[in-house]
Amino acid sequence: MIVAIDGPAGAGKSTVARALAERLGFRYLDTGAMYRALTWLALKRGLPLGEGAALGALARDHPVTFDENDRVFIDGADVTSAIRRSNVDRMVSVVARHPEVREVMRERQRELAAQGDAVIEGRDIGTVVVPAAAVKVYLEADPNVRARRRQSERPDIGADALATDLKLRDEQDRARMEPAADAQKIDTTLLAVDEVVAQIEALVRARAAA
Ligand code: C5P
Repeated sequence: MIVAIDGPAGAGKSTVARALAERLGFRYLDTGAMYRALTWLALKRGLPLGEGAALGALARDHPVTFDENDRVFIDGADVTSAIRRSNVDRMVSVVARHPEVREVMRERQRELAAQGDAVIEGRDIGTVVVPAAAVKVYLEADPNVRARRRQSERPDIGADALATDLKLRDEQDRARMEPAADAQKIDTTLLAVDEVVAQIEALVRARAAA
């Protein structure tokens, strides 16, 4: 069974998806980390971020991999921490919008999805990557709360700059952020992680029983 968890930055996707995967004994796939790792490599190599064909080729030549502890690797480097810095936050949408890049990433994401039970988080999982996912959830939250959550994970940037970055990224990501028509929307603004996980787990159990 595939559980698709989509939504904007700071809505709680990663925390919830990880916890849910652990509870269900499913694999966990963070598709944002794949776009982030590619962005990290493109920045490291000084590649122009406007060139979709070159970035698509870079993605094809350098697959992003995850180890059993969900550490993220590209081109032989462990980039788990580096991809969470504000320089990558700022540029990742620019890289992710190229169709050539998305084609490579989506192909890999579908291969991983085909391996069996998984919780997959991203922006376009329920709409494009796995539209047949058994359970689709779209997490959202108040923008101020999202910025605050993000702040605790980004010691390298001030609160105002972070809120601005988040807003810009939302605007750039908007085209890919539509909830699937059949996704269950959950507003996490006032909910604890456990409550969100429990709600999704209930959807999964109901679906498994059906
Ligand atoms: O979820 P996260 O904030 O790590 O995603 C980083 C960026 O990767 C997003 O802002 C978006 O530009 C891109 N992304 C995407 N499609 C996905 C996942 C992430 O375009 N499925």
